[in-house]
Amino acid sequence: MKQRHWREECGVIGIWNSPDAARLAYLGLYAMQHRGQESAGIVSLHQGKHITHKGLGLVGEVFQDADLERLTGRTAIGHVRYSTTGENLISNAQPLTATLFNGPVAVAHNGNIVNSEVLRQELKRQGSIFHATSDTEIILHLISKNPSDDLLVSLKESLHRLEGAFSLMVLSKDIMVAARDPLGFRPLVLGRKENEDGSWARVVASESCAFDLIGAEYDREVKPGEIFWVDASGEHSELYAESPRTAHCIFEHIYFARPDSVVFGESVYGTRKAFGRQLAKENPVEADVVIPVPDSGVAAALGYSMESGIPFELGIIRNHYVGRTFIQPQQSIRDFGVKIKLNPQSAVLKDKRVIVIDDSLVRGTTSRKIINLIRQAGAREVHLKIAAPPTTGPCHYGVDTPQKAQLIAAQQSIEQIRSYVGADSLSYLSIEGLFKAINRGHNEFCAACFDGKYPTPLFGHEAGA
Ligand code: AMP
Repeated sequence: MKQRHWREECGVIGIWNSPDAARLAYLGLYAMQHRGQESAGIVSLHQGKHITHKGLGLVGEVFQDADLERLTGRTAIGHVRYSTTGENLISNAQPLTATLFNGPVAVAHNGNIVNSEVLRQELKRQGSIFHATSDTEIILHLISKNPSDDLLVSLKESLHRLEGAFSLMVLSKDIMVAARDPLGFRPLVLGRKENEDGSWARVVASESCAFDLIGAEYDREVKPGEIFWVDASGEHSELYAESPRTAHCIFEHIYFARPDSVVFGESVYGTRKAFGRQLAKENPVEADVVIPVPDSGVAAALGYSMESGIPFELGIIRNHYVGRTFIQPQQSIRDFGVKIKLNPQSAVLKDKRVIVIDDSLVRGTTSRKIINLIRQAGAREVHLKIAAPPTTGPCHYGVDTPQKAQLIAAQQSIEQIRSYVGADSLSYLSIEGLFKAINRGHNEFCAACFDGKYPTPLFGHEAGA
């Protein structure tokens, strides 16, 4: 069977019972823009009908004031999406909407379904017609194949068919549902916000940083295997599936989530600093300064500096305004690509022994360019330290990690990588150190990108793919 590789990084939001539902969803998506930059969308619920606005681009580009005005109603769900290997099509923009037997249904999904191709073929054979190429449409088709007057019954039946990662928001004509796969790969959190009249809005988001922006309080995670819904009668929750373990994505803590979020019950900023501290314990080296690759290595570099006592400096300055419409110069200027974004400053680096910290090393191309620039800025020694173990496997659960052939640590020894990136030394955090730092058990997490232990069957997406 031909396998596609959708690696979708996404963020979802849901707002129930707020006079500003669509505007709060918009702000929540804004706070979660890092989870997806290719498309954004909101579906609101007004008098049993759905109103949809979605488009390609950043949240701020997709929504104008008039669009938010049009998204009336006290309930809304929203989505931001990024996909490298999937086409960047408007038909893939979410929430996906359909009119089913019992009225309108909208789905916003974060995560990858690993048995999507098996399900898609089965559904096609039964006559389903697909418009989009993302996994999410499968969920809508499964719901439509399980007709029941009660959406919850149809949805639960459907969720049992899915293998892999899903944190979902579903909106019907009268219910808002949040659901998470039984292993809890991707985050999903519940919060609440007081309305001006003293009533409460229920909010759900991929990351708690969305709550901070809209002034909501964090309550708890949606549990792995939990289905949580709100309707006119109030709030309800049920564990529709149980699992003896969880498989929270460790990469959310390493790179993906915002540092000001609480993910899987832990502050991301706190864990990143702890990874840096552990890195310093495992890999000490004499040096004059510790510098981060901004912004991804900042928290880990702070931790490294605190643990080692070596001063933290901002040796590389990042230009935050590099947009997607940047015009490449005609003449090739050496290292231009990375320099427009990251500029090492000799005031910090000249004649220094430098430890440079990044959160992860994937293909090695970023590190190679950065180390070259650090040397041009006059550094005497450059020691590259990575606040994660070597990335040796692709992700099948919703992080855009490339295939094995492009993962340098799957192909080369640490010494070969050191030589390729041009560092005086290279070290990584150990897998044991990673879990020691986060102070939680290894089997609570999926670390397949580091240890090759995929917690679900892969349905043909084998580890080398
Ligand atoms: P590379 O040049 O391929 O080694 O990329 C490493 C850099 O990419 C690091 O600075 C990481 O912070 C960043 N990175 C790691 N994973 C991802 C991802 N899934 N999406 C975007 N950037 C990433």
